Amino acid sequence: MSRISRRDFVARSGSCAAHLALAAAVAPDALRGAWARTTLGPVVAREPFGSLEQVAEGIWALISTPLGGDRTTLSNGGVIAGRSGVIAIEGFNQPAGAAWLATKARELTGRWPTHVVVTHYHADHANGVAGYLSPEKTTGQPAVRTTERTRDLVLQKNQPPDEARTAALQKTVLVPATGASTIDLGNRRVRVVPRNGHTDSDLSLEIDDPSVVFCGDLVWNGMFPNYVDAIPSRLSASVNALRRDPKTIYVPGHGSLARGPEFDRYVAMLGEVEQAARKAHQAGTSAADAGAAFTLPASLGEWTLFNKVFFERAFAAWFRELGG
Ligand SMILES: [Zn+2]
Repeated sequence: MSRISRRDFVARSGSCAAHLALAAAVAPDALRGAWARTTLGPVVAREPFGSLEQVAEGIWALISTPLGGDRTTLSNGGVIAGRSGVIAIEGFNQPAGAAWLATKARELTGRWPTHVVVTHYHADHANGVAGYLSPEKTTGQPAVRTTERTRDLVLQKNQPPDEARTAALQKTVLVPATGASTIDLGNRRVRVVPRNGHTDSDLSLEIDDPSVVFCGDLVWNGMFPNYVDAIPSRLSASVNALRRDPKTIYVPGHGSLARGPEFDRYVAMLGEVEQAARKAHQAGTSAADAGAAFTLPASLGEWTLFNKVFFERAFAAWFRELGG
């Protein structure tokens, strides 16, 4: 680990935002620009922090490229448009990220977002949410939709505190924590499904035709995920529940758009971690030692990891669940 000590890393990689910032700090130069640049659909806008990629008619994904060091967005998100409304997904790391996506939504659909959905509390998905409040509007601002748990965690935990974010969240439209709810966009219905496993409370947004799933951080593509708040057995169950037919496009929380093979590779990767964690737990090995000894099989391809501390976190999450 070149530019940062292991102790610093363990202390600071608490949230997904920190996880990515530290990944960027230790990423090999060759990878910084390249990661998450593989595209499936036409790119309609490109910025240093990410690209807006068309997924289907009326659906776009913002695929962030944070390893270059631009922290405007950090996480992926997107736009789902219908005849009577436009959903923006994720609040991003900074208000400028949300404001950028809202401006693009208006350019592409003729409409400022009418709904904003935040999938979970992590700073890179939630902290910029006030950026959706248009300075030109006095009425008709989009309300933030998320679960009560996620709203409360953002308000309690996310740093630095921000008055505009708090004000935006005070008007949150709460998404039911049990059972799917639907946002009706006229000619298109979007299911908002409460799940968990990456955190206590995660949401997925699901469309049937075309088959598109916005996974939040339940799915990462090509980057080893952050297990800091993970409940790993719940994570696996939630991920399995997201699996759809081969035509499906999955928008992961981090990394490029995924289809079935990338999704399956991620599931297999989670399975490898589980198997190794259970074995290490039974043998009484520490999370640090188990993480240091762990490698992913070459058959699972390239997973941007940079440091074994990410593995240590995954093992620690499993050990929390396995107890003892
Ligand atoms: Zn996260």
